[in-house]
This record gives sequence, structure tokens and C-alpha cells, in this order.
Amino acid sequence: MWQTLDEARVEALGCTRCRLSASRTQVVWLDGNPDSDLMFVGEAPGFHEDRLGKPFVGAAGKLLDGLLGTIGLDRSRCVICNVIKCRPPGNRNPEADEIATCSPYLRAQIEFIRPTVIVTLGNFATRFLLERQVSITRVRGQIFRAFGAKVIPTLHPAAALRSGGVGSPQFALIRSDFDLVQRELAKGKAPAPAAAPAAVPAVPVVPPVTPVEPFIEQGSLF
Ligand code: SF4
Repeated sequence: MWQTLDEARVEALGCTRCRLSASRTQVVWLDGNPDSDLMFVGEAPGFHEDRLGKPFVGAAGKLLDGLLGTIGLDRSRCVICNVIKCRPPGNRNPEADEIATCSPYLRAQIEFIRPTVIVTLGNFATRFLLERQVSITRVRGQIFRAFGAKVIPTLHPAAALRSGGVGSPQFALIRSDFDLVQRELAKGKAPAPAAAPAAVPAVPVVPPVTPVEPFIEQGSLF
């Protein structure tokens, strides 16, 4: 469909494929360094992201920046994007048809950037990457193989914010998952996928590195 990441970006910036184009301020494409081995995928732009055109610039973004710092990274050494490129009105959950319509853009981002490790933040990104209706609280802290990368699900930073911030159990879980990310990045580049990324089934390749936490039911956002 597109020959380069920039071709995809240019089309996305003017995209009117779904109803979200009518209410957005601007398309939020990605932030960071597309030459990175590490990609973070969130859910959708929020109020601040929609105004500034960058993903994760609000309080959750500050928490993400802090978590990056704990493993010696910053935004210049990873790439950050969302499943949906335009803000749903009132920060509602994305609809299934909106995700499906927008999906070629995220697929293109993954295909052209070819990250070694993809960290999914929350339920929506995790379900998209694993192509299964999983619960983030069940699969976080594990490594899956999908889209030619190691996929490591973790909680959305907003979940930690809603639970008390850096002192919350949710933050401790995310922090633990970031340590796993750091270890996997140190192992180097994953082999190229043998088949088209979308056809690769998502299967766990490494057992959980932390004990399974008590089930914590959360809102569908996370
Ligand atoms: S959400 Fe995606 S498909 Fe919908 S208008 Fe924005 S860029 Fe296009």
C-alpha cells in the first residue's frame, strides 16, 4: 500500500476514513525515533495529545517518560504511537470499526520500523497485537511473539495514575515489566518474520517472569 513510513504518515495526516476525523483537532502519528528497536503502543490520543499532535504528553506521558528513565532510555531511543490515530470524542473507548479502519497505519508503522520489542500499554493495544480478547491483567509481564517482534504487554500508565501513581501496586507491576523490556532489548534483534506479520499467531514464548498477580479487574481502558 505504502512504500515508506513517510508515505503512510502523509496519508494518515489527512485521513478521513472514519468518523473520528470529524471531531479531532489533528492526527497523532508517533513520537520518538523510528530507527529504534523499542516501540510502545497505547490506545488512542487524549485531550492533550489531540491539541499537541504528540502521543503521551499528559500525566500518563510524564509517567511513561519516568519509567523510560528507570531503564536508561528516553524518547529519542524508542518510538511511541497508538492503535487509533485520532482522539475519540470525550476520550471514549475506540469502536471496533474505528480500530479496524485505522489498523493499516499501525501495521505500516510496525512493518517499516521493525522493532525488536513492542510494549503494549493496556487492553486495546494488547488485544490488537495479540489478536485475541485477552485481559491485560492476565498477560502482562509475559513475552509473546507477534508481528515479527517480542510483544510485552503491561498496564497503561493511566491505570497507575488512577490507583495512586508511583506508590501504587499497578506502578510496581509496570516497573517490573520495564525491567523485562530492558533485559529483552539487551538480547538484540529478533529474527525477521517468516510470513506476513498479520498471519503470525501470537503465542507466549517465555513463561511469566513474575508470579501471576492477584486478578485486578479494571475498566476496559486498561
Ligand atoms: S482514526 Fe485512523 S482511520 Fe480514523 S480518521 Fe483518524 S487516522 Fe483515519
